[in-house]
Amino acid sequence: MNNHTSFFENVLRYVDRAASITKYSKGLLDQIKHCNSVYSFEFPLPLPDGKVEVIKAWRVEHSHHKLPTKGGIRYAPIVDEDEVKALAALMTYKCAIVDVPFGGAKGAIQIDPKNYTPEQIERITRRYTHELTKKNFIGPGVDVPAPDYGTGEREMAWIADTYSAMNPGVIDSIACVTGKPISQGGIRGRREATGRGVFYALREACMVAEDMKQLGLEPGIAGKRIIVQGFGNVGYHAAKFCQEEGDARIIAIAEYDCAIIKEEGLDIEKVARHRNENGSISNYPGARTITDTMSALEMECDVLIPAALENQITEENANRIKARIIVEGANGPTTPAAEQILLEKNVLIIPDIYANAGGVTVSYFEWLKNLSHVRIGRMGKRYEQFAELRQMRMIENLIGKQFTDEDLAKVGRGPDELDFVNSGLEDTMVVTYQRLHELKQTTPQITDIRIAAFYDAIVKVARSYEELGIFP
Ligand code: GLU
Repeated sequence: MNNHTSFFENVLRYVDRAASITKYSKGLLDQIKHCNSVYSFEFPLPLPDGKVEVIKAWRVEHSHHKLPTKGGIRYAPIVDEDEVKALAALMTYKCAIVDVPFGGAKGAIQIDPKNYTPEQIERITRRYTHELTKKNFIGPGVDVPAPDYGTGEREMAWIADTYSAMNPGVIDSIACVTGKPISQGGIRGRREATGRGVFYALREACMVAEDMKQLGLEPGIAGKRIIVQGFGNVGYHAAKFCQEEGDARIIAIAEYDCAIIKEEGLDIEKVARHRNENGSISNYPGARTITDTMSALEMECDVLIPAALENQITEENANRIKARIIVEGANGPTTPAAEQILLEKNVLIIPDIYANAGGVTVSYFEWLKNLSHVRIGRMGKRYEQFAELRQMRMIENLIGKQFTDEDLAKVGRGPDELDFVNSGLEDTMVVTYQRLHELKQTTPQITDIRIAAFYDAIVKVARSYEELGIFP
């Protein structure tokens, strides 16, 4: 935690900076800023020794300007109401920026999943869902949770199953949560989506030659030296795509227990295998392991991707950060005080509410898939395949040469669900960066991408209130 202000106050500071550039009244801006509904509750967990543990949990819905509200659920030993409120608020702005038609929400259960058996976690998850259902804090048109820190597909499957059991015959019930396993109504590409989105965000930023010149960097992501903090779902996939599709070099990975460093570049798939076999990235062969994991963030590099938790870059360490670009894979990794220091050092910060919006973007696609009860692309796949093949035959006729079967198979295959998901995600990230960049270039008061992002979001949310005619 930052010494001076809470996480929610930090978010409010960013909002206030951007809000002061807009023309909206204080009343309207206040309505946008505060959390609409905060549900804080406890429930009992019976333990094997006959005792009972009381578990603390929350669901916060920040804005109902669009429904359902949307946002992940985190399981963490240190989490409080302020943090859930901050994360719920960030979801509102995140959804608005990428034009995903949801309000923002977030949930949390105060547990360390490492201390519980899978059966206990299932029980906790089902009980949490039960409580949310009873209070109307979950539902396909009400509030739709998703994975976050400490949760994944397994928990989402339990949530969908519990909600469906409590709503028999409700045909859209599996749309009550996203990030589910494919067999339970999930969508291909959701697991990778946040990390893939981080990669697209960085790639897009690196394509602006003028910005790169100002940072003293070459244009393009290829060859960039990257440090990643966090090797969970977001950090792992961001690193993987930057390396495999961007040709960048991952020179260090910092985890909670240690960091590994290899200047020539780490092989992300091999590191993941090592971690899965040994329970830690520690002692990965060919790399240097250090235990002072925070110091890895301060190493010489081009890009730093904090993809762990909030408040990692503070006024305490910001001065020692050497990265020229910071891409926020996590929510709230940089405090406003740290940001000030970094901006003075001319560091380009690609903010969380844009950079990690790939997750909720693909959650939106999953929700649409669930509501339409059909795999995306199912009806058009073969039609497209034949259309592509017909074009190839026409080209053959024109050039008087025949394509090989291999070439034909590559082109004429028809898009499947993953193709649509990834292309929708890529388009969202690319178009959004271009809009935010343009806002920064054309509005003198907008001096960085974070303020551009908050400004863009506030204007969109304000408009939907204005159009309801509540505010003059
Ligand atoms: N927990 C993720 C986030 O912070 C995903 C939210 C969602 O998919 O609804 O953006």
